[in-house]
Amino acid sequence: MPADADPAAGPHLPASAVDLPAIDKERGGGARAPATAARAGGPAQRAQAMGLKRDWDFLLHLPLRYVDETRVVPIAALSAGATGQVEGEIVDVQVAVRRKRQLLVRLRDDSGELLLRWMNFYASLQNQLQPGRRVRALGTLRGGLMGVEMVHAQVRLVEAAAALPAHLTPVYPAAQGVSQLWLRRRIAKALDQQGAIADPLPAALRDTLGLMALGEALHCLHRPPAQADATQLDEQLAPAWRRLRFDELLAQQLALRHARARRRREGAPVLTGDGRLTAALRAALPFTLTADQDAVWDEIARDLASAAPMNRLLQGDVGSGKTIVAALAAARAIEAGYQAALMAPTGILAGQHLERIAALLAPLGVNVTWLAGGGRDAARRAALAAIAAGTAHLVVGTHALIQERVNFQRLGLAIVDEQHRFGVQQRLALRKGTQTPHLLMLSATPIPRSLAMSYLSDLDVSAIRSLPPGRQSVRTKLISGARREEVLAAIRQEVAAGRQAYWVCPLVEESDEIEAMAAVRMVATTRALLPELRIGLLHGQMLAAEKQAAMADFAARRTDVLVATTVIEVGIDVPNASLMVIEHAQRFGLATLHQLRGRVGRGAVQSTCVLLFDEPLSEPARARLRVLYESHDGFEIARCDLRLRGPGEFLGARQWGLPMLRVADLERDAGWLPTVRELADALLEREPGAAAAITARWFPGAAQFLGA
Ligand code: ADP
Ligand code: MG
Repeated sequence: MPADADPAAGPHLPASAVDLPAIDKERGGGARAPATAARAGGPAQRAQAMGLKRDWDFLLHLPLRYVDETRVVPIAALSAGATGQVEGEIVDVQVAVRRKRQLLVRLRDDSGELLLRWMNFYASLQNQLQPGRRVRALGTLRGGLMGVEMVHAQVRLVEAAAALPAHLTPVYPAAQGVSQLWLRRRIAKALDQQGAIADPLPAALRDTLGLMALGEALHCLHRPPAQADATQLDEQLAPAWRRLRFDELLAQQLALRHARARRRREGAPVLTGDGRLTAALRAALPFTLTADQDAVWDEIARDLASAAPMNRLLQGDVGSGKTIVAALAAARAIEAGYQAALMAPTGILAGQHLERIAALLAPLGVNVTWLAGGGRDAARRAALAAIAAGTAHLVVGTHALIQERVNFQRLGLAIVDEQHRFGVQQRLALRKGTQTPHLLMLSATPIPRSLAMSYLSDLDVSAIRSLPPGRQSVRTKLISGARREEVLAAIRQEVAAGRQAYWVCPLVEESDEIEAMAAVRMVATTRALLPELRIGLLHGQMLAAEKQAAMADFAARRTDVLVATTVIEVGIDVPNASLMVIEHAQRFGLATLHQLRGRVGRGAVQSTCVLLFDEPLSEPARARLRVLYESHDGFEIARCDLRLRGPGEFLGARQWGLPMLRVADLERDAGWLPTVRELADALLEREPGAAAAITARWFPGAAQFLGA
């Protein structure tokens, strides 16, 4: 879906924009609609497939741009390059065969003659354009071999002296079988049927906010008044767009309030307990918690003690120490007599959690159970039985834990590590009877404030902002790929000093296989170049057991260098590794690079991250890598990423399983959010009916995503 299909549409392009048919098809589509419609349902059914069914769906189907059919200019008055509408009589029609068949129509008015040319045309168009008929043609004039001409003009048959439209003509996102003409009629009908559109905002509030009435805004956008100067159209319509953006934000906020209220009504186990296990865990740690860790643990403990299910994101830069906080939460659930589950996106990461958490909790009498996806072996059966019997206190595994609907006896808390796609469905899958487990998500990806305030307003966020003491920040170097001898020398030096290195050769290819091949080639090269070193390999195509073995070898220093793909991006923790080399660094997002860099600098030694780039390096790529060179703060890096790449590529709301905004823009409209939130609360309290109507018109599927 090319969001930039029509640059003229400006910044208001709805996210639901569909390819705009070429202007000739736009009209031709109208003419041939009956035939097409007969084949696969009428335009109404087709429109329904686009999500257009009720009057409000059509009212909120907003134009991409406008064409001015309100005026007719004499042919002679139109100059080359100008766009305009002319009206005349057809004096000649020919089908010329050049490389392709072309339709050539000569049009005459009192002032002169003009050639209309179609490179592609339907028989229906040719049939309509008979000599002697009157047509209006709208298009851009250009100089051709046979004088001035309009290519693919939009044409309309007219009676002599037919009235000109009083409004600019909107051009809507259309689709095959749903022509512009049909959409215009249907939307006009909706506009007429709605009559005076009730505005949920009191006039006084609209005045304060400088907002137009909703009905007025919709009329403006669907039927803009004929403009003296069409170039000012954007400006004239801006207040109308503003009004709709506000309305959409309000609808979204209301939908999220509903979701929150619904969640609050769900019952969750009250996790308090005697505090013995959590106290023992803290006492057993080789360090004391930082002030930030203490603070977030307090917030989490408070949520766990409540009878409403927690929905909390624990956010902290790589290495900030989220795992220990998660372990405390698990210990709290267990001391309260419940089970806890810890899920990680990859088997390697889950395995590592298992090892670290088991090392902390097993000595305190906690039964930590591993549950990997797949496999039907005895160990798995035993694990499932222990989970169902409640003797497995903490279950660690991949997301297969939810996907396979593992049957917990008393699940009190689910912890999800480095995972952004945990939606309502998954949550419900964990539910047992009337009780919904508490949910704690861990993420190193910072979330822009505006996103947190809107899409995620049903999510509480705790942040760890400072790293544990004694960390040295990782030194970052940008080195041309041509200078790799220096890198080899650096690796030899680190290993000679008793430390280890990662060599990551990520590719942008979507395929795991291609990445794996690159890693395999890389490991052969590296072994040849560094024959004296022990070199391990880790990539996504290896069997789970092979991956575990490769990680275990590296963690136990049986290998010196680990050649890997981005499978190591998240969570891997080997404090003795002090050098990270990243190939083709310019191809990667800053967030990925920051995550990879976070794999080193986890111990007390000074660590280095080498970003190898390929030459020539474009200026934007250089600017991006420089951000990483200059900053170690994940929040700052995310902000720069947002600025350099635009919000489109950034952590999207889609990932959270919520509907996208059509006209509003969280970054641009962030200033409204506090007002919108307040208003949403007030409406819900005083006018629940109006609130429901607003939500329903913007998000017809709201009931579905809001969960059962
Ligand atoms: P992340 O937030 O990336 O998941 P981890 O939980 O893996 O971070 O912690 C990174 C490292 O810091 C681990 O080796 C952990 O033992 C250590 N760590 C965590 N908290 C502290 C602390 N308060 N003081 C010292 N070291 C800590
Ligand atoms: Mg982690």
